[in-house]
Amino acid sequence: MSVMVEAAKPPSKVMLEAKGIVKVFGTGAGEVKVLKGIDLQLRSGELTLLMGPSGSGKTTLLSILGCILTPTEGDLEVAGNSTEGLDAEGLADVRRKNVGFVFQGYNLFPTMTATENVMLALDVRSALVVDAPAHAVGALDAVGLAHRATAFPSKLSGGEKQRVAIARALAGSPSVILADEPTAALDAENGRAVMALLSEVAKDPNRAVLAVTHDHRTIPYADRIIRIEDGYIVGEERPGETPDQGSKTHAGKRRRSGTNKTKALGGRYRIRRHD
Ligand code: ADP
Ligand code: MG
Repeated sequence: MSVMVEAAKPPSKVMLEAKGIVKVFGTGAGEVKVLKGIDLQLRSGELTLLMGPSGSGKTTLLSILGCILTPTEGDLEVAGNSTEGLDAEGLADVRRKNVGFVFQGYNLFPTMTATENVMLALDVRSALVVDAPAHAVGALDAVGLAHRATAFPSKLSGGEKQRVAIARALAGSPSVILADEPTAALDAENGRAVMALLSEVAKDPNRAVLAVTHDHRTIPYADRIIRIEDGYIVGEERPGETPDQGSKTHAGKRRRSGTNKTKALGGRYRIRRHD
């Protein structure tokens, strides 16, 4: 008989909530419906992977969740801020204060050092930090790169560049980190290191992390996997769950999220959380 213990982790919070998200590109005969009604919650303390084939709408959804793109229909709340009725400037404000992005191609400024690249994010966020350079080096230290603080991107490996990009996303402590194909440009070893880092970053009880990927090597790092196909969410899994507690969602028949989570712990205990 297995021993059931209550989880010591604090209850997770909803950091982002999307309801009924539809995105249509183009007009008239050229109209393409890319997202067809997406409901999604991201909770603090979790690394969620969004997986699906190329063209299924992953980047479009990520851009909407990150307030880069406006949905055609639907509601979005980021860290308690409703985006309803916001103009482009209002949306950009929600994004700057609450969302950190990690892009596939790193997007580092080549003429700036690692520290300066991270400091730029503090500027963009208008983050009121007392000592910005020290804060930036602290963010680099958190990704294991304090010793590369003065290096320019051209002197960094792909894995190091992606870690600087993660430090930049973390600077100013946004509540939501969104990463688009963060391992796509990396070899296996660096890809694993970046995923391990993102899963660490996601352990913060005040932060949720969502990574878009079609790289199956990322699966072991996930708390939760959402599958998207042709603009619909077609499934959801929690890899650590025992099969009898497994959750699956299907378009049109969606399991209520977070009702019963069970995780294997060291093979000896099972933790059951009710939230
Ligand atoms: P994924 O990231 O899963 O590969 P995307 O979200 O990039 O998918 O794209 C989903 C679909 O939307 C694709 O068919 C793509 O061609 C289309 N699409 C994306 N952006 C635009 C746009 N700005 N205008 C028209 N179609 C677009
Ligand atoms: Mg994409």
